[in-house]
Amino acid sequence: MYTKVLSEQCIACGLCQLKAPEIFEYDEDGVAYVKLDNNLGTKEIPLPLLAQFKDAYTACPTSAIQRRDTPFPKDNKK
Ligand code: SF4
Repeated sequence: MYTKVLSEQCIACGLCQLKAPEIFEYDEDGVAYVKLDNNLGTKEIPLPLLAQFKDAYTACPTSAIQRRDTPFPKDNKK
């Protein structure tokens, strides 16, 4: 599983970092990003973190957290 945050959809609510502190971090504006790979969506979520990822994914109120079974295209940044 791969993930990235669509920054334009993130409302900086803080839930994802609360649910999955080892996956999500915030920039200086409070907008979330995936700290595993600087929000590129190219590093697979480690298996031990999948449960917390799913918690964050379902908690996000704006569907800003994207997920795929394959890596996100590299030119598709934040
Ligand atoms: S839960 Fe969603 S809206 Fe809230 S900070 Fe995380 S990505 Fe942004």
